[in-house]
Amino acid sequence: MMNEYDIEAIKQLLSSPKKIAIIPHRNQDGDSMGSTLGLYHFLIQLNHTVTVISPNEFADYLAWMPSSEKVMLFEKDTENCSKVLQASELIFTLDFNALHRTGEQMGSFLEKLEKTFVMIDHHQLPDSYAKFMYSDTKMSSTCEMVYHFIHQLGQEKLINTNVATCLYTGLVTDTGSFRFSSTTSTTHNVAARLIDSGINNAQIHNNLFDTSSYNRLQLLGKALQNMKLMISNKTSYITLSQEELDAYQHEKGDTEGFVNYGLSIDGIDFTAIFIENKAEGIIKISFRSQGAFDVNQFARNYFNGGGHINAAGGKSTDTLEQTVNRFISIVKETKK
Ligand code: 5GP
Ligand code: MN
Repeated sequence: MMNEYDIEAIKQLLSSPKKIAIIPHRNQDGDSMGSTLGLYHFLIQLNHTVTVISPNEFADYLAWMPSSEKVMLFEKDTENCSKVLQASELIFTLDFNALHRTGEQMGSFLEKLEKTFVMIDHHQLPDSYAKFMYSDTKMSSTCEMVYHFIHQLGQEKLINTNVATCLYTGLVTDTGSFRFSSTTSTTHNVAARLIDSGINNAQIHNNLFDTSSYNRLQLLGKALQNMKLMISNKTSYITLSQEELDAYQHEKGDTEGFVNYGLSIDGIDFTAIFIENKAEGIIKISFRSQGAFDVNQFARNYFNGGGHINAAGGKSTDTLEQTVNRFISIVKETKK
């Protein structure tokens, strides 16, 4: 729950029409997209002027979400996005807790922007840029938190099918379809309440998971063949080079979920996927674990990243081979 003083202050702020911007992290996922658009559909009913500004383009598998076509892209449309942000009276940042998570370009813009920020987020170790902070690392998803936020504002009646469709999406994607240990009875109660508002929950699962292209499945096949095991360290990892991605006409979002296969092997409690991105000159890494091994700490310590205890990400500017070799030696030295 957000603390009562902050809720009262925000109630006051929202009691008259405001110019509001809502920002997700770079390289959006279901939870960032769902929470920002869910909050958007809630706030427009209170007669605010609301703009969602994504740092960069989002993947096709999220483009079915209501009003996704209204989302502005900072890196593509920097001038107009900057104007909107400069004119904003209130800025919500959702599903991230450090401004650099919006990328270098938007991050450095936001650092200089003196505005009232509201953070709603469930990642470890939040920065302190926000006047109002609702940070809870026990929450399944930012979407679950936006539900609690609306409830605390006493506005549950405004959860229409657009709000609920968006929020349900983040619940599903961040919990691995209600499988991960972050899923609580409260998560299920929130899901039930969202379903009761009339959403087509089966269709949402279908939109998210049953729309693969043939190329994407072939790329998954390649990724699985590339998987390596380090049995004595209970670790597995996958690599995908730019050449391999190109061979299957890779599109943004195609590798979503691939990392989880590494954990589905008996005896493995830590896995990583290394994805080469020549355009950005980086290797993007995702980490997943089961149980006590803390991948947030691992990503922070060694790969310039962070996240949650069992799901985190990071990056490297070394080559794919150098990055993987460094990973192997760190794992051998530090992990049983
Ligand atoms: P994914 O592996 O799916 O990209 O991300 C897993 C989790 O780690 C997500 O909650 C995501 O927000 C976080 N994450 C991913 N990449 C980074 C990163 O480079 N830095 C930080 N701090 N968090 C990340
Ligand atoms: Mn999230």
